[in-house]
Amino acid sequence: MAEKITMQSDGTLSVPDEPIIPFIEGDGIGIDIWPAARSVLDAAAAKYGKKIEWKEVLAGEKAFNETGDWLPEDTIMDFREYLIGIKGPLTTPIGGGFRSLNVAIRQILDLYVCLRPVRWFQGVPSPVKAPHLVDMVIFRENTEDIYSGLEVEAGTPEAAKMIEILHDAFGWEIRDDAGIGIKPISKFGSQRLQRAAIEYAVRRDRKRIHWVHKGNIMKFTEGAFQKWGYELVREEYSDVAVGWNDCGGDAGDKILVQDAIADIALQQVLTRPAEFEIIATMNLNGDFLSDALAAQVGGIGIAPGANINYATGHGVFEATHGTAPKYAGQDKVNPSSLLLSGVLMFEHLGWQGAADDIVGAVESTIGEKIVTYDFARQMDGATEVKCSEFASALIDRL
Ligand code: NAP
Repeated sequence: MAEKITMQSDGTLSVPDEPIIPFIEGDGIGIDIWPAARSVLDAAAAKYGKKIEWKEVLAGEKAFNETGDWLPEDTIMDFREYLIGIKGPLTTPIGGGFRSLNVAIRQILDLYVCLRPVRWFQGVPSPVKAPHLVDMVIFRENTEDIYSGLEVEAGTPEAAKMIEILHDAFGWEIRDDAGIGIKPISKFGSQRLQRAAIEYAVRRDRKRIHWVHKGNIMKFTEGAFQKWGYELVREEYSDVAVGWNDCGGDAGDKILVQDAIADIALQQVLTRPAEFEIIATMNLNGDFLSDALAAQVGGIGIAPGANINYATGHGVFEATHGTAPKYAGQDKVNPSSLLLSGVLMFEHLGWQGAADDIVGAVESTIGEKIVTYDFARQMDGATEVKCSEFASALIDRL
């Protein structure tokens, strides 16, 4: 019988063999990629005696058309209650009262980690010479930084007031016609992200972590992120990890924690990718880095993502691309981003065997050059298949 996933008192998830998992189909190409991804997830789970009871919840255009609300309260309640969910892409409503539905879901559920693993699958067209050296996991902080929406528009009374307050309190001179955004970076927000990155490295036996920041310029926000990261290593993880300055770069068996300035890091992930394993960084840097890295391994059609609060157990796993409306309903696009987000979800649930099987099937299917249009147009001798046919090819190879 289907049951809820629950959080245990020791902070781990209790996952039944037949969990109830809410899903948002997604707008645009959601109608193509969700059924495809779901069929592969179901087939992989079944091999291990698991069966997911999918519970549809609404958001985006489908929700608006059926309920008049872009993000109904029931959807948030279901994500709260069932802890783990998965979603396709959502249209960002223009003038709908939300900056973005995705950002709203992350903020309401306080999903502070945006987890983006980036790896290459043999055969995927890539613009770089050695894509196989890219195997990194990005931990992007999801709730702070200039993404928190604390901004005032140039020329408004609010902006004028802000300029006056900053002048009176701090003597700061800001031009009258400036818009202003606030960039909060807290010790709490930084360290809970950094803790998640270190614990992931321990669980996955990864040996290198980079704090990526622009602390040379933004000393009390990005610089503080770096400082708090090293303090955390010293204070809570000295048995498993050591900062570069405390070991001169020789961490022995421990995890080596170092930092990199964001602009240099963006160069080095391209020129020396093998040196990066886990990257933890703030919201804006993380946004740039994850898309830049995704491009190195074949683009957004294949890059998975997850938004997680490790303390409450909540997680929403999602395709990282948008709704690609021009392809909607054509059974054409690549379902891999959503499917591999489902793989992340399986790993999070402890269903490692089923996760590994799907990854193996993706490797062999792409290796045989059976691909959707986005890869086919860049590969010689490829067999172009539809979205649903790609899913069937994966199931045949599970
Ligand atoms: P997009 O939907 O990601 O599409 C941009 C291009 O990326 C597509 O035209 C296509 O390239 C390629 N692409 C995207 N998904 C693909 C897939 N599954 N397989 C193969 N190729 C894929 O970006 P957008 O056009 O800027 O945004 C459209 C809407 O999506 C907007 O409303 C935006 O707000 C929303 N959005 C939502 C999310 C989310 O829900 N997480 C994220 C980003 C954007 P080609 O044209 O070259 O084939």
